[in-house]
This record gives sequence, structure tokens and C-alpha cells, in this order.
Amino acid sequence: MAKRIRYEDRNPEPLMEASLRVKSFREYAFGYSVPLALDEAQRCLFCKDADQRCIKGCPIGVDIPGFIKKITEGDLIGAYKKIIEADPFPSICGRICPQERQCEGSCILYYDTVRGKRNKGLPVSIGALEKFVGDFARISGIRIERERPKPTGYKVAVVGAGPAGLACAYDLALLGHEVHVFEALSKPGGVMAYGIPHARLPRDILDGCIKELRDLGVKFFFGYVVGETVKLSQLLEEYHAVFLGVGAGRGSLGIKGDHLKGVYSAIEVLTRVGLYRADQFPNSAMPVDLGKKTAIIGGGFTAVDCAITALRLGVETHVVYRRTRETSSARQEEWDHIREEGAIIHWLTQPIEILGDDKGKVIGLKCIKMALGEPDESGRPRPVPVEGSEHIIECDSVIFAIGQKANPIAYKDLPGLELTKWGTLKVDENLRTSIKGLFAGGDVVNGGDTVVRALAEGRKAAKSIHRFLIEEVKL
Ligand code: FAD
Ligand code: SF4
Repeated sequence: MAKRIRYEDRNPEPLMEASLRVKSFREYAFGYSVPLALDEAQRCLFCKDADQRCIKGCPIGVDIPGFIKKITEGDLIGAYKKIIEADPFPSICGRICPQERQCEGSCILYYDTVRGKRNKGLPVSIGALEKFVGDFARISGIRIERERPKPTGYKVAVVGAGPAGLACAYDLALLGHEVHVFEALSKPGGVMAYGIPHARLPRDILDGCIKELRDLGVKFFFGYVVGETVKLSQLLEEYHAVFLGVGAGRGSLGIKGDHLKGVYSAIEVLTRVGLYRADQFPNSAMPVDLGKKTAIIGGGFTAVDCAITALRLGVETHVVYRRTRETSSARQEEWDHIREEGAIIHWLTQPIEILGDDKGKVIGLKCIKMALGEPDESGRPRPVPVEGSEHIIECDSVIFAIGQKANPIAYKDLPGLELTKWGTLKVDENLRTSIKGLFAGGDVVNGGDTVVRALAEGRKAAKSIHRFLIEEVKL
């Protein structure tokens, strides 16, 4: 049968209808059925090596044409095996990677269209296909049997159970090392557990990934705030190596009125709901009060996740961003999703002051309209204020979803540890810090990126730690 190549008709992932999805935190993207996945897989051109831009666009280097080929052959176990050679958590990455900036943004179908060479239309839905394969393996209980490695006698401490720490722990355990993960919160997953709403990443998927680690012998210690409960220097003495994957979870406020009652950091709101289920209050122990109207400041993943959360709490939701949709770092389709769900998005709008009543309670957000000026250092047009355009968005709460920073609590008392001028940890190309035996990766190093980049750095650090143990510690 002749190979069918259709460029324009990418298969969208079926979604729950907007009026229904705002009523609950259930996942709203249903995923491909088998016929849809087979149809989408057949759109891939299987470019030859030099053209495989999609693989280069994936921070963890999934063999994308390789796994898609297996789908077209009906070999879903083969497709799963291909993906997990690079990415240990396909059901997660397929759901939450910003694919349009990564693998799909590099797909030749799309790339040729953007540069006007050929009109080939939209990229292959790599993320949805990866989710399909990951879910197939998960739901059918497929496990790739691995020989249990012989214990090496080396002990490694991993600080932080976010994607960087989990990937590092996973690979170290596969190499036979004893791995102990120390996590400040009561659950593992980092932003995947406390930040990303259940509607985008159901927690049973995360639980399945954690179970794989536990089955490999990784031990978790929760409620351990390294730097407080136990010092990093102590871990460096007790373990042969330490990996720091503590993320960049410290939010920042910073305009007049940010002390008022009703002002939140995004992480506080998301953690209350994502981890402690404030949406189920009083059936859960944790409330969150955003009032009737909230204004969310920011234009990245965090702002969109706050909007998804606020909408599902039944709150009128405004998102205020000083730049445009095209220059925002959130996923483009998610802007469409929250708009369909009723969010009111104020592009090119800069908040200047939070207004309060005489009881110190938020009543509004004073803003000014912006216009696009000359490009700034990042190459994006610099927003400049439009004179006389001040206005007030009435609201009962304000959520700051900007400026996540590394929290130095874990390493603040470690003399000799070098930081960059942005306050992130300084590492070399092997993710070694300036302290012998201490490695780091993920947001604490890159200042805030993506889950898949944190996974990739966790894996890279595991390789580097392994070399260090064998070549320098030498039991
Ligand atoms: P984290 O995920 O932050 O994990 C760090 C862990 O370390 C946490 O569990 C924390 O509790 C723990 N920790 C911190 N300090 C200590 C200490 N002193 N002792 C012990 N433990 C400690 N990326 C995407 O690719 N797709 C998305 O859709 C997406 N959405 C996002 C939504 C939000 C709200 C946010 C904030 C980020 C989002 N990102 C997304 C970015 C992505 O989540 C991060 O880049 C990624 O989680 C970084 O991984 P990490 O392991 O470095 O850190
Ligand atoms: Fe794309 Fe993420 Fe999968 Fe890589 S891991 S192929 S970036 S969806």
C-alpha cells in the first residue's frame, strides 16, 4: 500500500468540553485512541539522520522517528522500549512538555513551513503520541524486566525529589548504587506534585513513576528540609556523593501593596490545591480563599496553572501579562484552553500597585497598558508604558506568578560553594559543583526551565556521579 502523507491534517487530541472541564480537576485531554494514534504516526516522514531535527529539539534525546515507526508497525511495546531508552517517564513528558518549543517546534513539517520553504503544515503530534505509548504501557501493566544490578557498596544522597532528583536516583539505582532521597515536602515529584494542576497531570501517573523507583530500591525520606533538618555538610560526610536538585521554588512578590490580605505567591496557591487538596475543603484540612475575582500576574507556565486552578475553584480569573501571547513562555494551546474556560487575559498590561480597603484587604490591581518598543537583551520587543492608560482591575486577591528563584536554604551554610551572579549553582560540564562530591542539576542550576530538561540533567549527573565513584572514591 502506498504511504499516505498528509501534511495539513494533524489529529488534535480530543478534549473535554470547556464548560465541563472547569467543574473538576479531572484530566481534560483524553489522549489518542488506537486509530487516531496510528493515523497521526503515519504523518511522520521518518527523515534521515541529518534531518532529524526533532531529536535535537528534545532535551533528553528521545529517538522520535524510531518510536513513531514502531507505532506504525503496531509494535507498541517496541515503541515504549525506544522511548524509555532516553526518557524514563513518557506518560509525564507526553503530557507536559512544551512540545512546540522542543521536539514539535523542530519537526521538519513545521520548520519548512515557518521558513517558507515548503508548505507542509503542522508538526507531527509527538507529545500526544508519546503520551499514548506511555499510557498504553502503564494501563496494560507492561514492565521492562531488568536484571537487578549487583550492589556496588556506594551510597548517594539525592536532595529534592523533583524531576532532576528522581531521574538521577533512577539511573544511580539502575547502576547498583544505594540511593536515599531527602525531600522537604510530604510527597515526591517537586513541581509535578505541588505545582502542575491535577487537570494537566493526574497524580496516579506520578505515583506509578515513583513506584518504579521504589521497586529499584530507592529510599525516600520526607519532611527533610536539608539545611535545617540535616545539614548538607553532614550528608557529604555520610554519603560517597550528593546530588542537589532543589529546584527554584521560591516565589517573589514586589509591587506596592504586596503586603495586603489576599496577596499570594503562585506556589502557595498551587501547593494548597495540588498537594493538600484545598479544592476539597472542608473535606480536606487546607483552605484557600481567592474571593470572587482574582488577578494573576505573569505569562509563563505558572500563571496558566494558577488560572486553571482558580477557574476550577469557581473564581472569576484575570491574567495580567506585560508582554504578548507570542512572547510568553507558556504553551500556546493552554492560552486557548483557559480562554475557552472563561479566563480574561490582559495582554500588554503592567501591574503597578495593589489596592486595598481600610481593613488591609485587596480590592483591585492598578495597571498601565504597554506598547511594544525596541528589542531588549533577550531580543524580544521591550514593552513600554502607554501614557495615560492607567486603569483598575477589580479583584479580591492577587497571585504573583513571576520570578521564581532558587531557595538557598539547602546550601547556604556551605562555605566554598560557588554561585552564579543570578544566584543559581555554578557547575561544570559534568554538573560538578565547586565542592568535591557535590553535583547539581535542574532548576537550581538553570534557574527555571522544563521538566524534561531537569530529567535530562538528572540523568547526566547520574553518569557523572558514577564516574566519580569508580574513578575517585574507589571503594
Ligand atoms: P523541582 O521540581 O522544583 O523540585 C525540587 C524539589 O526539591 C521539590 O520537591 C522541593 O520541595 C525540594 N526541595 C527544595 N529545597 C529543599 C531542601 N532544602 N531540602 C529538601 N528538599 C528540598 N515544565 C514543563 O516542562 N512543563 C510544564 O507544564 C511546567 N509547568 C510548570 C508549572 C509551574 C507552576 C512551575 C513552577 C513550573 C513548571 N514547569 C513546567 C517547570 C518545571 O516544573 C521545572 O523546570 C522542573 O520541575 C524543575 O525540576 P527540579 O527537579 O529542578 O525542581
Ligand atoms: Fe518531545 Fe518531551 Fe517527548 Fe522530548 S520528551 S520527544 S520534548 S514530548
